[in-house]
Amino acid sequence: MGGAFEIRLMGDPVLRQRAADITDIDGRVARIVDDMLPAMYEAEGIGLAAPQVGIQRRLFVFDLYEGDGPQTLINPQIVESDGEWTYTEGCLSVPGLTFDIVRPKEVHVVGLDLDGNEVSIEADELQARLFQHELDHLDGVLLIDHLDKAERKEALRTWRTQLQSGGPGPSANGPVPLVGRSAADG
Ligand SMILES: [Zn+2]
Repeated sequence: MGGAFEIRLMGDPVLRQRAADITDIDGRVARIVDDMLPAMYEAEGIGLAAPQVGIQRRLFVFDLYEGDGPQTLINPQIVESDGEWTYTEGCLSVPGLTFDIVRPKEVHVVGLDLDGNEVSIEADELQARLFQHELDHLDGVLLIDHLDKAERKEALRTWRTQLQSGGPGPSANGPVPLVGRSAADG
């Protein structure tokens, strides 16, 4: 058994808390990232935030599968956003459900990398969506919070039905296409 974390699912209180800033980028942070990456890849996600594995710290990992390999953003912040874009979003903590959600199309994100260097990324479309999604996790916000009341009620009903029938949790039916690389997933 490796060190990979188990991804927490909606209903776990850890997903609803605001994560704390990281003050020291030390070996412990590096080990957290080392354990988050296999969990993200195993679930075929493009992003994973620390609270999703029960760690209340402001960091997320991501990989858009464009050949750059995995990257880590620590204490990320959106400093500018622009435009509007509708995209079908999934979440590794809410497997099996996806929603068309409107968010800014472009965001400028700043933060730190694992070496403590300042990172500044101007992201568009999928990458911008990924960043906004992961930042939500650091603030205890989930996809369903972006739905209107009726949609949210329906989503929760579907979610409960899925849980009762034992699927489609991450391991139940194998990868669910829309929570894979084709959706802003994390
Ligand atoms: Zn997510």
